[in-house]
Formats: sequence, structure tokens, C-alpha cells
Amino acid sequence: IIKEIIREMNMMVQALAKQKSITYSTELEANLPPIYGNRDLFKQMILNLVENAIKYTPKNGQVKVLSYKRYDHIFIVVKDTGIGIPKEHIPRLFERFYRVDKARSRKVGGTGLGLAIVKHIVFSFDGDIKVNSKLGKGSEFIVKIPIIE
Ligand code: ATP
Ligand code: MG
Repeated sequence: IIKEIIREMNMMVQALAKQKSITYSTELEANLPPIYGNRDLFKQMILNLVENAIKYTPKNGQVKVLSYKRYDHIFIVVKDTGIGIPKEHIPRLFERFYRVDKARSRKVGGTGLGLAIVKHIVFSFDGDIKVNSKLGKGSEFIVKIPIIE
């Protein structure tokens, strides 16, 4: 069902990406097991991450959504070639209203709630979220959700 949800978002995300000449692509493993829980919340979670990836990636960059199964977890990775996040900001990233560097964020707009919502949704699925980022190179947000038999 992850496939369906990501496919549903495709039109909208492609349009967003196109405005910035960003290449958006997905790489979804075959036969991913279903995730149980609220479908709209799940969609909101991926959308918030993808919106950030597009927003914080300069023109001609790339945004990718990957999903695969490892042991008893499903992983969803949202990856970009964007501006990156300074290491010292990563621990506070998921706090409400927290935004890295007011000056750079003001230009692109937003409230700083997106990732706080993502975190709540991930936890509601008993999952976990991690961030890897390299300043000036890009970021990846890795969501890990347990598979329910
Ligand atoms: P909102 O999502 O409410 O419109 P926002 O995007 O600023 O506003 P969050 O989504 O919570 O807020 O993200 C918090 C901050 O983390 C952002 O302001 C931005 O500085 C940083 N950030 C989030 N995602 C990325 C990313 N993919 N690349 C670089 N920085 C990011
Ligand atoms: Mg956001």
C-alpha cells in the first residue's frame, strides 16, 4: 500500500519539483508488506518530508523517495541534493517552530511545524526517524516502521 500512497502523491509532487527544475524519482522495492494505521497521516508524513526536500534543494537538484524492507522493518527514505543541515541543528530539528537559520528560512517561508508533525506521525506508527546530512551536499530523512504480522 506504500506504493499506492506514493503514487497518489506523484502528480502533485512532480508539479512542485518541476517548478524548481528538480528531478523527482521513486525507488520502491517489490512486495513491500502493508503498513497498518491511518492512511492520510502516513501520506502527510511523506509529503512533509518531500516538500522540505524540494524546498531546501536548489534548482536542478534531485529528490528521491526510496522504500525497502529490512528484517522486520520497512524503511522510507527521502533524499535530496540540497543545502544540507548543520550538525548542531539536527538534535532540535523536530521541535515545533524550530527552523535552521532564520535568514535562509525566511526566504522560503513556512512555520517550522512540518517536521514536528512528521515526528508525531512516525511515533504513532511505533516508528523512528533519523537524519543524515552534509552541509551543501544534501540530506536524507530515514523513517523506520515495524512490520506488523
Ligand atoms: P513548514 O514545514 O511548517 O512549512 P519548515 O519547512 O521551515 O516549515 P520543518 O519542515 O519543520 O519547517 O523543518 C524545520 C527546519 O529544518 C527548516 O526550517 C529547515 O531549516 C530544516 N530542514 C528541513 N528539511 C530540510 C532539508 N531536506 N534540507 C535542509 N534543511 C531542512
Ligand atoms: Mg517543512
